[in-house]
Amino acid sequence: MDYQLYFKQQPDAQGFFGKFGGAFIPPELEKSFREIDEAYHDICQSHRFIAELRDIRKHYQGRPTPVYHAERLTRHAGGAHIYLKREDLNHTGAHKLNHCMGEALLAKYMGKKKLIAETGAGQHGVALATAAAYFGLECEIHMGEVDIEKEHPNVIRMKLLGATVVPVSFGLKTLKEAVDSAFQSYMADYETAIYCIGSVVGPHPFPLLVRDFQSVVGIEAREQFLEMTGHLPDTVCACVGGGSNAMGIFSGFINDPVQLIGVEPSGRSLKYGDHAATMSYGREGVIHGFKCYLLQDEKGEPAPVYSIASGLDYPGVGPEHCMLRDESRASYVTASDQEALAAFYTLSRKEGIIPALESAHAVAYAMKLAKEMKRGSILINLSGRGDKDIDFIAEQYGFGTP
Ligand SMILES: *Cc1c(COP(=O)(O)O)cnc(C)c1O
Repeated sequence: MDYQLYFKQQPDAQGFFGKFGGAFIPPELEKSFREIDEAYHDICQSHRFIAELRDIRKHYQGRPTPVYHAERLTRHAGGAHIYLKREDLNHTGAHKLNHCMGEALLAKYMGKKKLIAETGAGQHGVALATAAAYFGLECEIHMGEVDIEKEHPNVIRMKLLGATVVPVSFGLKTLKEAVDSAFQSYMADYETAIYCIGSVVGPHPFPLLVRDFQSVVGIEAREQFLEMTGHLPDTVCACVGGGSNAMGIFSGFINDPVQLIGVEPSGRSLKYGDHAATMSYGREGVIHGFKCYLLQDEKGEPAPVYSIASGLDYPGVGPEHCMLRDESRASYVTASDQEALAAFYTLSRKEGIIPALESAHAVAYAMKLAKEMKRGSILINLSGRGDKDIDFIAEQYGFGTP
């Protein structure tokens, strides 16, 4: 594959990354997805739009986020130098605002009045509700009743930000049902509303659009790392749920001789239902309107999944990652609940940075790899901060050993 022309060629006009992606949607939605695609192509070329997004990132979100040389973590791991791209310092505490502000700006351009989305742990819901408040748009977030119970502080945040939270009470009452519910609501309202997906997943053009909005992470990180060290990192590493923070940082290095590694959750065991390591154990399938590697049962239904980090428990994965894996441009590994937890405590104690449990998966793998590599450098995308996880961790696992 020609990585110099990568962003011109991937995805193709139908939204395929190799054989993955596409748009498997009901015929009545085809027109509205085409409109989103066309509007997105327009604004990509618009200086006004680009300038407005740049302004938002700088003055509202707090970008650029720093790249930080984690010296104590490096000494602790004992090997390659470890650096962190501090996406945890974004407004709202994670990388998700990068694409939510973009999606909301697109909605404004299209004259839409309302943003509709689903949320699992509530992180996407909070980021989107923030974007809606900023642009003065209505916001409707669908959330399974089980998650509403579990993620109470995020439900409060969304409501404070002015969003309507729609409880979803069918099936397992979690993320997959929330997506189904949000989609139904969008189908009834696509003239005035826009659907805002939470990762590089879903039907075309969302994997493209979310990747482009997240690519600011990789573009910044490459420049910052070069300026700090005079060379590129040997390895770039990120956790993968749907894959947006990983695609964001990968895209800055796609045409460089840099190893790209995505870390998926192997959960509490490798038994069916106990993990969400889609790349390692999934087969090709279709979920939520796109083709990808998918954890599924014999009938092709998405499998139940689990991770200690609720932002990583999705049975599918972004189509671009599936292609990058098949092309051997990126590799995908796993970290377990226990490993992520240990990394969570270590980064907190050694660096004074409490990471999101999702991001702790990338830290866990990077520490292991640093030791094996002995020299060189690893850049981790620290996708979010851990404030949302502290009550759960302190209650379930205590405060760690000094
Ligand atoms: C949602 C979330 C993730 C997982 O989503 P991706 O699309 O895979 O990036 C990772 N880290 C944090 C902090 C999140 O909130």
